[in-house]
Amino acid sequence: MSEIKEFKTESKRLLDLMIHSIYTNQEIFLRELLSNASDAIDKYHYLSLTDEKLPKRNDYEIHISIDKKERTLTISDNGIGMTYEEIDDNLGTIAKSGTLAFAKKLEEAQKEGGENIETIGQFGVGFYSAFIVAKKVVVDTKSPYSEKAYRFTSTGEDTYEIEESQKVTTGTEITLYLKEDTKDEEDKVVNDYEQFLDEYTIQYLVKKYSDYIRYPITMYLTKEEPKLDEQGKEIENEYEEVRTLTTLNSMIPIWKKSKNEVTDEALNDFYMQKFYDFEKPMLHLMFNVEGNINYSTLLFIPNVPPRNLHSIDYEKGLQLYSKGVFIMDKCKELIPDYLRFVKGIVDSNDLSLNISREMLQQNRVLQLMQKNIEKKILNYLATIQKDNFDKYLEFYKNYGINLKFGAYENYGSKKEMLQDLLIYESLNANKMISFKEYVEQMKEGQKDIYYASGKNKEEVLAMPQMDIVKKYGYDVLILKDDVDEFLLKILNKYNDHEFKSINQTSLDDLTTEEEKEKLETQEKDHKELLDALKDALKDNVKDVVLSKRLVDSPVCLVSGDGVSFEMEKVIDAMPTNDKIKAERILEINPNHELFQSLDQVFKETPEEIKDYANLLYNQALLMEGFKPTNSVEFSNLMCKLMIKSIKK
Ligand code: ADP
Repeated sequence: MSEIKEFKTESKRLLDLMIHSIYTNQEIFLRELLSNASDAIDKYHYLSLTDEKLPKRNDYEIHISIDKKERTLTISDNGIGMTYEEIDDNLGTIAKSGTLAFAKKLEEAQKEGGENIETIGQFGVGFYSAFIVAKKVVVDTKSPYSEKAYRFTSTGEDTYEIEESQKVTTGTEITLYLKEDTKDEEDKVVNDYEQFLDEYTIQYLVKKYSDYIRYPITMYLTKEEPKLDEQGKEIENEYEEVRTLTTLNSMIPIWKKSKNEVTDEALNDFYMQKFYDFEKPMLHLMFNVEGNINYSTLLFIPNVPPRNLHSIDYEKGLQLYSKGVFIMDKCKELIPDYLRFVKGIVDSNDLSLNISREMLQQNRVLQLMQKNIEKKILNYLATIQKDNFDKYLEFYKNYGINLKFGAYENYGSKKEMLQDLLIYESLNANKMISFKEYVEQMKEGQKDIYYASGKNKEEVLAMPQMDIVKKYGYDVLILKDDVDEFLLKILNKYNDHEFKSINQTSLDDLTTEEEKEKLETQEKDHKELLDALKDALKDNVKDVVLSKRLVDSPVCLVSGDGVSFEMEKVIDAMPTNDKIKAERILEINPNHELFQSLDQVFKETPEEIKDYANLLYNQALLMEGFKPTNSVEFSNLMCKLMIKSIKK
């Protein structure tokens, strides 16, 4: 009995694209089929550890055979095989995200005129790539969970057929009926499918793409060997063809090779294939750990962060292998949250394979590994920061925010590990600098690290609160991310240097004793005025004080030591009902002309001081990026004032 079915629409589209757009790099089909075969063996092996129904075996193998007469190339494995439903699900539909993403890229590339199609062949394209070289594909497969074996046949057009198969052993055998070679007008071969019937080509391709596959990929290789006589001695000039079963791959996974054995190109290729990325990784890191637990690790940092990196549906994790055998795809215990963008593989000899996945998740060993992996990544980043700052900037642009969250999380428990990796723009430096660099270039007598939130240098420089800092020529770190002020609050100090916001705190150490005394006298002299201002603004501000920080500007608003204005704004933008307000303190410059004028008004027409207080406060609010308390009232007051001054 056989059934003819139609491919799902998406699959049809992908098939069509695959067949009609990949002309070079056709050879990748072999890599894809071998990788599927290897995955199928992994699956069998894994299941056999817990499922008694599956006999344990140690004869895993992928075998390639060539039939020149029939023009077929066959790849067989003794992996998990497929049931009837699985054939339908797996081969009749494209489900895998990587394959889907590939289909999209392929389509985009075609729209753009097809120029990028060549490079696309480097990525995981899956089973359908068989149709790049085959006019017909026959899959015989037997699952240990199905009594019967099945045969899938398709020409890569609209339909496929499923019928029973004679296959008796568990596993899958894929036979490709190669297309006919095509030639151009000058009789030159354009599409050379014949090459895939050549033993040496296959041997070469296996080495090139699939060398690291952990199971033997075998093939009979034909060799000419000297003929032997009855005594077993070579007969001169007489040869015979001997076919010997040969293992083509070295079976050493790329992450088990030594660093100087692997080229960057091979690592890039491996990454793109394994993690379905269309771009080379930004950075890679390979290391072995020997000690209580032994493992090899190969890690990558993607060039472009995944779009959903910061959303809750992003799944972090590293692939976990045990003695080269795949255990799980995203083992989240291996990587801390803030390094969730790191992809890669961890292969350990010391994990018991009999452990169930659930138990593994509890495993303390994994936590130890996480600690170590985290440390290695951070050390590596520190090296890049030191030796290749441009690269570090590139990294920081994409992932700096992750480091910041890492340093902020858990009340800053990772401060020591992360603080030196943080860099900020600053007023005085022409590059982004670390806290260490800031401290190294501090002015004589400077104790603290100053910061301000702002979009850029200009904005920060224009802030009235900057007056005194400018006077001393101190550098100021410019904070741009929402998390920054929270972070510096949590970090509190860098070594002995406190972090100080230029529009918070008292800035006592910037004022000399002399200045302080002068200010105290001024405060006494103008106590009544200050009290009147305080009274006028009592619903809005905690205090009105004479400023130590203003030099040229007349007024500014600062916040108390707790929540800052920037924090207030960030919290306000969050979807929470717990709104927190920063304490507002209005500072007035006692040496500014405006203050003297106020003093005069206060003496002549004290009832007007209320209006001026209101204006000053709203003005200060505006400078901090807040709205006036009451825009209409504010505008009316301004009008009143303007009329008055014009009349004069
Ligand atoms: P991918 O390998 O990316 O999942 P493929 O199109 O290559 O996508 O394969 C689709 C699915 O078909 C696989 O996930 C697997 O379940 C099944 N499959 C492919 N080849 C084999 C095989 N040799 N043995 C068992 N199952 C296979």
